Amino acid sequence: MRISVDTAKCVASGMCAFVAPEVFDQRAEDGVVVIRRWDPPEDQLDAVHEAAVRCPAQVIDVE
Ligand code: SF4
Repeated sequence: MRISVDTAKCVASGMCAFVAPEVFDQRAEDGVVVIRRWDPPEDQLDAVHEAAVRCPAQVIDVE
């Protein structure tokens, strides 16, 4: 699994960090997404996919 995020279009909702906190975090200053693990383990697959689906800006891409 490989994650990419278009941070320029992130609206800082925090949904990804709520759904998959081991993989996503937010910058303290503005809430924009920060990837904690670019190549997360298999046990995070479902959470990462859910984060991608629930992201209101649809900027999370999972390969
Ligand atoms: S869910 Fe999407 S819009 Fe919200 S913080 Fe994460 S990447 Fe940004």
